[in-house]
Amino acid sequence: MNRPLIALSGSIRHYDGADRAGVNASYARSIAQAGGIPIILTPAIGEAAASQALAPVHGLVLTGGHDVDPEHYESPRSPALGPLDPARDNFELALFEVARHRKLPVLGICRGLQVINVALGGTLWQDLPTERPGAIQHDAQVSRDARTHHVLVKEPSHLAKALGTGRLVTNSFHHQAIRDLAPGLHVTAWAEDGVIEGVEETGTDGWLLAVQWHPEEFHQEPGSADQRLFHALVVAASASPGRRAGLETTPGRLHG
Ligand code: MN
Repeated sequence: MNRPLIALSGSIRHYDGADRAGVNASYARSIAQAGGIPIILTPAIGEAAASQALAPVHGLVLTGGHDVDPEHYESPRSPALGPLDPARDNFELALFEVARHRKLPVLGICRGLQVINVALGGTLWQDLPTERPGAIQHDAQVSRDARTHHVLVKEPSHLAKALGTGRLVTNSFHHQAIRDLAPGLHVTAWAEDGVIEGVEETGTDGWLLAVQWHPEEFHQEPGSADQRLFHALVVAASASPGRRAGLETTPGRLHG
């Protein structure tokens, strides 16, 4: 049937003796489970071809990963900054620009939320423990699906509607976070220490949501609030410009 194609921004990592292009499988599983077809776009494509790479797709997920280079928000590098990936920065910034131009639905996750904020003119805390110490451990040393801190979601918001709740307990694997919010974004979720955990753009005809946690890790909980985010993206992508009229967009039928 007409399942929308959802691009996942990939990374290149070195292990077992080779550079490997891909994403954590949980992103692909979450999209597939929500009714979309995940398409991995590797930074090896290069920013100059970002527009062509996105041509066939109906939605974009900017995934988690390394720190964004502070040069993109004109800040000096903190000594506590983690590893950088300039090729990925440039590729994802290009993907995001194209996606916005085409009004493709975009879901940002962890680093993806940070990339979106930087792309729109915001800044980041480069290392929460040294720059904004708080009571909550945001870079938890636990399993990927361990729920470690509460998140409060603004209601009403597109995020609350997608999640189906205003309060949840999430996993948390980040040492960076939004510092100065970009113009045009609204904060839709916070941790109890005030760290921004969700943003969205409203008042436009686009669809842009981003979260600081990792909802993809709960693909084994298909009915969870986390997984509803992917379903909301797939529904929005099904209705995005360029899709043929008459495509199924109701939640129940996409699972069918
Ligand atoms: Mn967190």
